[in-house]
Amino acid sequence: MTTVRKPLIAGNWKMNFDHLQALAFVQKIGWSLNDIKHDLENVEIVIFPPFTDLRSVQTLVDADKLRIGYGAQDVSQHGPGAYTGEIAAEFLQKLGAQYVITGHSERRSYHGESDELIGKKSAAALRQGITPVICVGETAEDLEAHGAAAVPLQQVTAVLAELPENPEVVIAYEPVWAIGSGKAATAAQAQEVCGAIRQKITELRGEAFGEKTRILYGGSVKSENIAEFMKQPDIDGALIGGASLKVEEFTKIAQFQKHITV
Ligand code: PEP
Repeated sequence: MTTVRKPLIAGNWKMNFDHLQALAFVQKIGWSLNDIKHDLENVEIVIFPPFTDLRSVQTLVDADKLRIGYGAQDVSQHGPGAYTGEIAAEFLQKLGAQYVITGHSERRSYHGESDELIGKKSAAALRQGITPVICVGETAEDLEAHGAAAVPLQQVTAVLAELPENPEVVIAYEPVWAIGSGKAATAAQAQEVCGAIRQKITELRGEAFGEKTRILYGGSVKSENIAEFMKQPDIDGALIGGASLKVEEFTKIAQFQKHITV
């Protein structure tokens, strides 16, 4: 069985850009992708602005009919109710969010998020038809002590345990030591772990799930290294932090197909 997985280029803005800056940025991205006649049918582009920008982004995307997807950087495990400061998946769904990042390493380390909580948040998103982009990855200490794949595989297994049968998810392999460090994994290292993740999810949820699920690499991706990652059989896209905040660089990354000579 062979499924064609549509490449996904995703920009995690983290806590950058207020809603006015977001409007200007998304407009520029829209023009820039138009200028280069970016093939959005074949490469999906999704941005993850802060919560406070989402309504403005939705309005602009709708008004200008931009074919850019957007999502949130986090979601509550709970439905609407007495949970001060949290944002329910129901609200994100109303804002047209198609995706939500769950388990980013910054949330795991600064907010102590466990795999179980990440699984519950992902399940809450799925109940509203929102696709979670589930982040996994090892720290430098994990790498030293257990090798690259052990921790990501354990995280994927624990998060999947909270999800219903055959869920629509994206998995982002982001070695923590590569995030924001300028020191990306090599394409071969990333492929090794992404391949192991695909094997593990196939073992856990069956062949169709393993075939259809997109696995991204994240960690210091830029226009110079994206093509190498995208040539790998088990890497279906990238989750990009710093480089997603620069219009020209993000647009170049989206054009990775132009740099690929197989
Ligand atoms: C991230 O935060 O998800 C990320 C991959 O960041 P950067 O691209 O800046 O390493």
